[in-house]
Amino acid sequence: MTGSPSGRADRLVAALATAGPDETPLDALLVTNLVNVEYLTGFTGTNGACIVSGERRMFLTDFRYAERASEIEGWDVEIVSGQWLEGLASRLSGRTGFEDDQVTVRTANQIREAADAAEMVEAGGQVERLRRVKDSDEIERIAEAARMTDELYRLLLDDGLAGRTEAEVDGWLTGWMREQGAEPSFPPIVASGPNGASPHAEPGPREIGTGEMVTIDMGVRLDGYCSDCTRTFATGGEAHLDSLSREIYEVTLRANEAGLAAIRAGEAGSAIDEVARAIIREAGYGGNFGHGLGHGVGVEIHEAPRLGPSSQDVLMAGEVVTDEPGIYISGATGVRIEDMVLVGEEGVARNFCSIPKQLTFV
Ligand code: ZN
Ligand code: ZN
Repeated sequence: MTGSPSGRADRLVAALATAGPDETPLDALLVTNLVNVEYLTGFTGTNGACIVSGERRMFLTDFRYAERASEIEGWDVEIVSGQWLEGLASRLSGRTGFEDDQVTVRTANQIREAADAAEMVEAGGQVERLRRVKDSDEIERIAEAARMTDELYRLLLDDGLAGRTEAEVDGWLTGWMREQGAEPSFPPIVASGPNGASPHAEPGPREIGTGEMVTIDMGVRLDGYCSDCTRTFATGGEAHLDSLSREIYEVTLRANEAGLAAIRAGEAGSAIDEVARAIIREAGYGGNFGHGLGHGVGVEIHEAPRLGPSSQDVLMAGEVVTDEPGIYISGATGVRIEDMVLVGEEGVARNFCSIPKQLTFV
């Protein structure tokens, strides 16, 4: 079970008033994305859906989950026998939104055809919007996941990096997470030397050398919630490090700190991105930062809102977002520094990543 779902369905019902296309009202919403179903009900099986309206809180699954479904509180549980989509469609009526951003065109057509009593309209993103603002229980779970990530960084640095392969480090990180009852929230990135120039580098057989930058981007999923943190370290002593790596580290750190200083409720995701991006651009590395500044984190590792040049999102207090500028020099080196923070009315209310950010030699 994930979170404390009570109250989430109420917030969803309140949102139905403007959930249709062009902010028109809906009578009901059909929720089929399992991540959203889990968020609303706590159900963690592989087949389930919700129908939510002012009058109804219906959770649907099949016979395999009948026992587990009976534990779901606050929802009328219906076990669908026979064809799943027809079973859902037969229970729909009125102007009903569906998650058009999650279902295939074929599935949407099948639901439309089978739902005789309902007018089906596109209404994707409703639950995702609710998920943006975290309640105190969710924030505590995210903080717990972040604490585990920080502990992992400390253990890793105690052992050093040079002489191990990226794949060995990756395997150790992932194994440790599983031993603690967590799982990676995404496959860890361990990118050394020239591999650091790729933001999504996959750990490989490369042995980490001395006098190199090593970017480690990792998080855990613990108790249903994710963490996400990136630090870039240098191997060997000060004397071993090239001046380019040192310079891009300093620029990236300044961009990260400027991003943190710009994060607050009411600020546009595009404006925060620009504050950090301008620092990198003015230092001459504008072409070497090819991704957005950050993203929301919660039950999924990447969720709304987005911080990036084309983001339409405006931040709200209670959101958890990352601030992760990077500079990537093809064939040579790379740096990314990522914090995960809680958005407050006046600024960052809490930084969940406690690992120091001054360049650390390991
Ligand atoms: Zn990350
Ligand atoms: Zn991230």
